[in-house]
Amino acid sequence: MRLAGKVALISGGARGMGAAEARLFAREGARVVIGDILEAEGRAVEADIKTKGGEGVFVRLDVTREADWQAAVGQAVSRFGKLDVLVNNAGIGGGTRIEETTVEAWDRTMEVNAKGVFLGTKAAIPAMRRAGGGSIINISSQLGLVGTDNSSPEYQASKGAVRLLTKATAIQYARDRIRANSVHPGPVVTAMTERRRADPATYQLMVSRIPLGRYGQPDDVAYGVLYLASDESAFVTGSELVIDGGWTAQ
Ligand code: NAD
Repeated sequence: MRLAGKVALISGGARGMGAAEARLFAREGARVVIGDILEAEGRAVEADIKTKGGEGVFVRLDVTREADWQAAVGQAVSRFGKLDVLVNNAGIGGGTRIEETTVEAWDRTMEVNAKGVFLGTKAAIPAMRRAGGGSIINISSQLGLVGTDNSSPEYQASKGAVRLLTKATAIQYARDRIRANSVHPGPVVTAMTERRRADPATYQLMVSRIPLGRYGQPDDVAYGVLYLASDESAFVTGSELVIDGGWTAQ
């Protein structure tokens, strides 16, 4: 098993890509802490993992709250003995132009998508250092790499921030054997994209921008995150793994 012996904390693990990663990690031998604000969904993922013979626990985690992060990392260490892997996956979307974007919307998205990653990284590093190293995987977006006309300025700015925060983390903590990499998914079938997929014109427009001609599935991304979490990627840090069906290749 590719994550045998490892302990992983996944933010936003209650649904979507985070839940796919939690299930896949558990199948590959990791003990998984699922952190989210969605309690019922998070507990369902925990139950599913246990039913299949894996080890997992849900913790209530609002990524914008430093105290929640301390408690979540504390749970990983007290329940499972250490922390090896952090997936900063929690995020919120958005889709308006700059002139229609309120200061409140800007602040909220930056809080969750950018500050949340900073707080998670800050909380995880001491535990990872004690474990002798670790892997931090930050979920950015293809929209953290290129601009587009139908996202929002705060979403794009927040995902760009995640990309560079990842590199800063990689450089600052390489000597502690803590690796940090960003993942850049393209459009994926999750609750976040539900509204756009339901509108035929928007759906067609999005698919027309994806050379592989389809939205990704959560597992398409989870397998990339699995690689970065495992020791197979021991020499990989500060890198960007693009999983976007070719969106940014054109
Ligand atoms: P999703 O909405 O299904 O899942 C996001 C999860 O994050 C939810 O469980 C939600 O409750 C959680 N979350 C939101 N705010 C939180 C907070 N303050 N504290 C803790 N948890 C919180 O969406 P998804 O598509 O699975 O998104 C996962 C990540 O992938 C996000 O960072 C998103 O920006 C990114 N992403 C998504 C797509 C896509 O097309 N779906 C593309 C590129 C990047």
